[in-house]
Amino acid sequence: MTTLTHHEPLNALLRRMPKAELHIHIEGSLEPELIFRLAQRNGVALKYESVEALRAAYAFKDLQSFLDIYYAGASVLLKEEDFFDMAWAYFERAAADNIVHAELFFDPQTHTERGVPFETVIRGLHHACQRAHQELGISSRLILCFLRHLSEEDAFRTLEQALPWRQYFIGVGLDSSERGHPPSKFERVFARCRDLGLHIVAHAGEEGPPEYIEEALDLLKVERIDHGVRCVEKPELVQRLVRERMPLTVCPLSNVKLRVFDRLSDHNLAALLEQGLVATVNSDDPAYFGGYLNQNFIELFEALPQLGAREAYQLALNSFEASFVERAAKDAWKQQLDHVFGAAL
Ligand SMILES: [Zn+2]
Repeated sequence: MTTLTHHEPLNALLRRMPKAELHIHIEGSLEPELIFRLAQRNGVALKYESVEALRAAYAFKDLQSFLDIYYAGASVLLKEEDFFDMAWAYFERAAADNIVHAELFFDPQTHTERGVPFETVIRGLHHACQRAHQELGISSRLILCFLRHLSEEDAFRTLEQALPWRQYFIGVGLDSSERGHPPSKFERVFARCRDLGLHIVAHAGEEGPPEYIEEALDLLKVERIDHGVRCVEKPELVQRLVRERMPLTVCPLSNVKLRVFDRLSDHNLAALLEQGLVATVNSDDPAYFGGYLNQNFIELFEALPQLGAREAYQLALNSFEASFVERAAKDAWKQQLDHVFGAAL
């Protein structure tokens, strides 16, 4: 790798810098082409006639309209190799984006509800993680997410099914429809997860109010907030997040697709960084929201002219610091990052 010259365009730097992705739902990386291929392989009937018809249906008006189609897409995943193929396709794209580390969310209930055993899901994903490390040099971890529109009892059942595979995942999260499903609904199951030594994260403050972020902190005792962009509505909460150095995994293109912000130029990511928050950039559900990680960086930096090389460096560094890996790995990635930026800062 060469170091940056003053003339290197920002886009090239954004593409080239090493980075970690901490908010990617692996089921949300399922591209229409792969959905059709798996549907054919497994003999699953889809209600869309073609790849184009499916892609055309990706015009969401809010989180719920997205989730409806997301669950329909996941219905083609039945066998271990389907989960492998899905995660492998993501890792190939991640390598192209210079992602050196990824923490993947997966939603077991989306599959166990359809009669697919937990074991099938986790073995396929784990195998892809192993191969990504061997062949692409990408390190990765799995984080099990509970679907918050289902009950806490259901989450407890899922945790029980997962326990024999405890060594294959490092933490738990909370995703799906936020409004009407506050973190407090899952207080007891997260307490159990903490006792098991699992890392804790939760989606909060995407569509839901800043009070959901406070609940995630106080009741679930999260180590990262997924999204969290609505924290700005409560200045004392922003101060607390800064003071506690609580990372936010922000997803710019997702936020526009799901109408959290009308346009990318309205996005508050630059303001979050300005206020000292440990924000990161992530792709969320890239097959559905218009782009993988580098696309998020490039479109965001184009839309927000106050973002430059210094902020690019900070965002990449934040992604390493906020990851759940040992200090030595974080330090090694920071060295790579320093090398790429060279005298640009
Ligand atoms: Zn998400």
